[in-house]
Amino acid sequence: MPDTATALDHDALRRKYAEERDKRLRADGLGQYIRLESEFADLATDPYIPITPRDPVTDHVTFAFIGGGFSGLVVGARLKEAGIEDFRIIEKGGDFGGTWYWNRYPGAQCDTASMIYMPLLEETGHMPSEKYAHAPEIREHCSRIGKQYGLYENALFHTQVTGLAWDETRKLWVVTTNRGDEFTAKYVGMATGPLHVAKLPGLPGIESFKAKSFHTSRWDYAYTGGDPEGAPMTKLADKRVAIIGTGATAVQCVPHLARSAKELFVFQRTPSSVDERNNAPLDPDWFAQVSEPGWQKKWQENFVGNLGGGFAAEDLVQDGWTDLGKRIRNEIMALPMEERTPDKIMAAFEGADNEKMEEIRQRAERIVRDPEAGQKLKAWYRQLCKRPCFHDQYLQAFNEPGVALVDTDGQGVERITENGVVANGVEYPVDCIVYASGFEVGTDYSSRAGFELTGRGGETVSEHWKDGMRTLHGLQLYGFPNAFIVQHTQAANLIANVPHNIVDHADTVAAIVSEAERRGAATVEPTAEAEKRWVDLLLTGFGSRFGDTTCTPGYYNNEGEGLGKEAQLNVGHPAGPLGYFSHIAAWRASGTFEGLDFGG
Ligand code: NDP
Repeated sequence: MPDTATALDHDALRRKYAEERDKRLRADGLGQYIRLESEFADLATDPYIPITPRDPVTDHVTFAFIGGGFSGLVVGARLKEAGIEDFRIIEKGGDFGGTWYWNRYPGAQCDTASMIYMPLLEETGHMPSEKYAHAPEIREHCSRIGKQYGLYENALFHTQVTGLAWDETRKLWVVTTNRGDEFTAKYVGMATGPLHVAKLPGLPGIESFKAKSFHTSRWDYAYTGGDPEGAPMTKLADKRVAIIGTGATAVQCVPHLARSAKELFVFQRTPSSVDERNNAPLDPDWFAQVSEPGWQKKWQENFVGNLGGGFAAEDLVQDGWTDLGKRIRNEIMALPMEERTPDKIMAAFEGADNEKMEEIRQRAERIVRDPEAGQKLKAWYRQLCKRPCFHDQYLQAFNEPGVALVDTDGQGVERITENGVVANGVEYPVDCIVYASGFEVGTDYSSRAGFELTGRGGETVSEHWKDGMRTLHGLQLYGFPNAFIVQHTQAANLIANVPHNIVDHADTVAAIVSEAERRGAATVEPTAEAEKRWVDLLLTGFGSRFGDTTCTPGYYNNEGEGLGKEAQLNVGHPAGPLGYFSHIAAWRASGTFEGLDFGG
């Protein structure tokens, strides 16, 4: 279909999107993937820091937190500020960082502006070096937080929790790990990461490949040369390399592979939408001017406001996210008041989305010199069907000599042989396969966490959530005293800048724990009624836009199958993220802790 004709032809676009989606749909859904750990045991170890033996720990701490990513660090910081000294993080990696510990692939970078993405910038006094910081700086920032708040002293690295069970007699949590630890904690928190279990396509022959292969989250610099800081991967100069996958990770590392490898084959099933990035160094003089007390919260709230939750007068962040939010809002505001019906609002939303996606498609055609590749790199779906990508070298990489796009027309790679990759019936012999195939989403929560949280009376979190998620504020569960799950569902929910929600949750955890300690309470948990009231309130909203089956398949919509009945509870505050933040700020400030039961 000619692009010019489709630009504003919404019906034609809808048909084209459905056609592309149908090509990509598969009967095996999530079953098409396998776990990295199960199939590639040698890749399940830590390639970055050697695992050293240590004695099991059998003591008691006031607060144990599972996961040493942003959440564990920020909750730790806030609890230390509140005077809780014996705070322990248990982390499967060899240092803090979570996703930023594991993802050291070349070009890894935050895709939300550093000013709002990197937590505790004000507290640490760190000025990000760039508008979108690269992974080494973010990992270093995690370490900075850990050092500043004394979180290293008590941490257990290279340790995976195997059980977390409430002991009603002692009113304590018992934490067991794969290192033989068995210790107790008055409070527990967990943030095991929404995207931390690496997955591989379950391709026939995947184990038969004789040369080198690895997943992007276990990058093997010993093989490729180079380093996470971006030094050239000189050892690839004589290598034919395949990369499977073209999601947000591939978009960031393909330009580096394109520069280093003798030949690079990019195997594409669904193109990403890749808009401009416009990264730039931050100017210390400018930063000094904007960083008045309270600046980071103000910036975070301004970003949410511009994304659609409010009517911010100015746009501090100014990027592709806020641009989309403003376009949608402007289309809606252009409707006369009496025409602002739900249908017309959704149509305005679609109009803004189509316009933006058309610009992104034209960008691919403009940048990529090979006209066929330029067409194949066009994304045919609505922008929020997949993670929007922003990059100023990805599309350009297809202009490098030796780089080939192998588009599979929605079918994906067929199989792996001893020598290479087969797609479209053609074998591509290669020296190295990089799997940019993503992470598990949509599988069972406890299976991904690797352990069960077992509350009062032996009820597990899986049982508590068998008909869907139930929490108070997305943070606490009835029947699970002194436990906190730091994540954004049933809180700010579909927020583009997740750390904003993490920092806010940390404030809530610190407020609740401080209050429990002040009262000398042994336990604190939501009442069953408060949990129910919260879920009922959330269900008065528009429902979840996540899981839209009209979208191209992917982890956003459970591979096109939709999210099922239980997922209808995966919603946020009816007034959006800003509504949630203002509710919870008022709740904290009231000092009444309505809905919580503080026990003897
Ligand atoms: P994704 O799940 O987004 O991408 C996996 C890729 O592998 C897709 O392109 C998928 O195709 C492809 N794939 C899977 N099986 C096959 C097959 N058989 N043949 C060919 N291709 C196949 O994983 P990512 O690691 O790229 O990103 C995961 C998430 O991590 C992002 O959505 C984002 O939330 C986050 N992220 C954030 C970054 C940041 O800057 N902050 C950077 C990188 C990631 P298909 O699309 O058809 O399924």
